[in-house]
Amino acid sequence: MDLPTAMGKANVGEATGAEASHGAFFMPTVESITALHSDMIAWRREIHRHPELAFAEHRTASLVAAWLREFGVDEVVEGIGRTGVVGVLRCGAGAAVGLRADMDALPIQEMNECDFRSRHANVMHACGHDGHIAMLLGAARYLAESRSFRGTVVLIFQPAEEGQAGAKAMIDDGLFERFPVEAIYGLHNMPGMAAGTFAVSAGAIMAAADSFTILVRGHGGHAAAPHQTRDPVVAGAAAVMALQTIVSRNAPPSDTAVLSVTEFHGGEAFNVVPDTVQLGGTVRYFSRKSGDLVRQRMAAILDGIAAAYNVTMTLDYREGYPPTVNSAPEADLARRVAAGVAGIDCVMAQEPRMYSEDFAYFLRRKPGAYLFLGNGISTDGHGLHSPRYNFNEEILPIGASFLVRVAETALAR
Ligand SMILES: [Zn+2]
Ligand SMILES: [Zn+2]
Repeated sequence: MDLPTAMGKANVGEATGAEASHGAFFMPTVESITALHSDMIAWRREIHRHPELAFAEHRTASLVAAWLREFGVDEVVEGIGRTGVVGVLRCGAGAAVGLRADMDALPIQEMNECDFRSRHANVMHACGHDGHIAMLLGAARYLAESRSFRGTVVLIFQPAEEGQAGAKAMIDDGLFERFPVEAIYGLHNMPGMAAGTFAVSAGAIMAAADSFTILVRGHGGHAAAPHQTRDPVVAGAAAVMALQTIVSRNAPPSDTAVLSVTEFHGGEAFNVVPDTVQLGGTVRYFSRKSGDLVRQRMAAILDGIAAAYNVTMTLDYREGYPPTVNSAPEADLARRVAAGVAGIDCVMAQEPRMYSEDFAYFLRRKPGAYLFLGNGISTDGHGLHSPRYNFNEEILPIGASFLVRVAETALAR
């Protein structure tokens, strides 16, 4: 595939020497993980054939649990956060570190032609979570055999990343009380980034994703006699325009936000002023402070518009995933480990993205880092969530090596 030169070099490096000196700055793809490449491909394809939606990952969870037991993982617990699975590897006294993969698929009809394409109509692993599972399985198998760490590795296979907060479900189900960790790491493949390259930064890397609806209630009537109505369409239009000033005139440019009104429903006839219109949209931001500011300004602006236009405006504001914020020491450790695995030239800083990710819930409770791993530059327009998206199996050993090395480095003997 389109592996960069430095990556290729690291990939064929003298892994045995590096294995002996983990914690050093050079630690290319673990040789015995490269030997697991065909197994990881097989696991990934098995999961890809049988994708399951959020909180319905029953078959996937059973398979993961069975594989973990087969690898000799010390403790395997199913049903955490409904369909989540946790595996625990212990090797003496020491700290504990969490490694996470997500397991859910998307309601998309797969359009790829490969022989392992989805067997289920309108369900597809179109975000590469099948690959994430395979990478964490590969890391689990290696660590179960090598025991090349001192302390505890908690393998977290979470359900329902796609919009349904499976991470929060596991936390609410006592994940960190039952399996305490000092830090947690996870990664996501990223089409459009060169295969095998990493991107990581400290601080906010992905945004919060809240949503809202606004019900504008006026008084309808004949469009030929607007003076006898209180027109919610005009008031709604004024609200859309005024809400745009929050980001442009209230949010600090250095801690920016997005406010998009994406729905405007109202009216059914050309000659009738309706009673109500309904607006909807999304708010994205990187800090709690910025989120609170947007929410307060929305309420104040809508109150003002309602008074000015003699209508009522009811704001229903729903919090979604929080911002994904990497802690600085763990992001730095992850960057050094990624550089060791992929080569120093293959690790970039991560600009904040306005996407959101429920790994944020883990990072709200524990220090840790979330990284992107390049899935290949050429996507032909088939990025994440496309019916023709394809996870790049060449990156399986690279992701698995990162997970192994980050655990070993955090739990250096
Ligand atoms: Zn996704
Ligand atoms: Zn995803």
